[in-house]
Amino acid sequence: CSSGASTNSMAYLDLKDLHKAFGAARVVSDFTLAVERGEFVSFLGPSGCGKTTVLRMIGGFETPSSGRILIDGQDVTALTPARRKVGMVFQAYALFPNLTVAENVAFGLKVAREPASQTARRVDEMLELIKLPQLKDRYPYQLSGGQQQRVALARALAVRPKILLLDEPLSALDAKIRVSLREEIRAVQRELGITTVFVTHDQEEALSMSDRVVVMHNGRADQVGAPFEIYNAPKTRFVASFVGTLNLLEGVALAPDRLTIEGQGITTTRGLAGAAVGATVSLALRPEAIGPLPTPERTNKLEATVVDVGFQGALVRVKVAVGRQSLTYVTFNAPNSPPPERGTALTLWFGPD
Ligand code: ATP
Repeated sequence: CSSGASTNSMAYLDLKDLHKAFGAARVVSDFTLAVERGEFVSFLGPSGCGKTTVLRMIGGFETPSSGRILIDGQDVTALTPARRKVGMVFQAYALFPNLTVAENVAFGLKVAREPASQTARRVDEMLELIKLPQLKDRYPYQLSGGQQQRVALARALAVRPKILLLDEPLSALDAKIRVSLREEIRAVQRELGITTVFVTHDQEEALSMSDRVVVMHNGRADQVGAPFEIYNAPKTRFVASFVGTLNLLEGVALAPDRLTIEGQGITTTRGLAGAAVGATVSLALRPEAIGPLPTPERTNKLEATVVDVGFQGALVRVKVAVGRQSLTYVTFNAPNSPPPERGTALTLWFGPD
């Protein structure tokens, strides 16, 4: 589980061997992670895998059963949330309904007894940062969901936290706003250089926003790495199938670099992980690695029949049957060549890599 994580003493946020149990239920195990200053790290995993629990332990809202948390070299494991200097944004808009936008953003500064003039200046700065200065005097019910989350972000950042914690801040918003807010959150995060931990179960969100992704499974970090690495070099079957679409085809090992799928021979340069001749093996193929046109690299072929076609605009997703198994491939839309029809027999090509 410590893949990619280190005990680097330069880490800005250092999670050391965190464990958490609620009664007899172990929710987080062996969780070690070093986050650099200014880094944007996502926790990605299915519902219930422990993402929020780790985030809440960083924030001080939950106490680890064992392990330590260091922020900027200081052990904060026993400190209250307020003394850790973390800013948090939640899934549900947690704005105070009876306060205006400006008063919401000023809230933490008032609690910290900042002088009024400094508070006013900081509020203006924050509203500029999230590009909503004109909404200063509105109340939360007069804002869209996306605007409310931007205000929640401004409120969290106003107190100059050391770490920004984001707990599925986009999941209640509709698709278009979600995508534009992703970019906006990342832009604000870069501008301030603030170390950020972002919890999501949406792989596209994690891949597109993060410097590094921690893929979580049953309370553990299965893999830690840059999005490109997580997607292209998954270390476990769980990571391979949870991140991105994956075709898993069952086959039989023929030789160290040969197998058959539904009686059709396939060569692989990745090897068969030592499987004995005759053993059952799984072949994992990304949808974009397969296509109906041969290329110099795509030297493997499978005979298939089209079962379903999903035209998505830029991409066309085609589900095919290969014997009694099925797989999905994607191609780019080509205006001059319509997608295949259901029932069409075709040959699919993919590389030995
Ligand atoms: P989701 O995406 O659904 O929020 P998650 O990955 O964030 O999931 P957690 O919220 O961390 O998961 O929960 C992990 C497990 O711990 C779940 O099985 C949950 O029911 C359990 N759990 C969380 N908080 C408590 C608590 N206070 N008492 C008992 N069990 C808890």
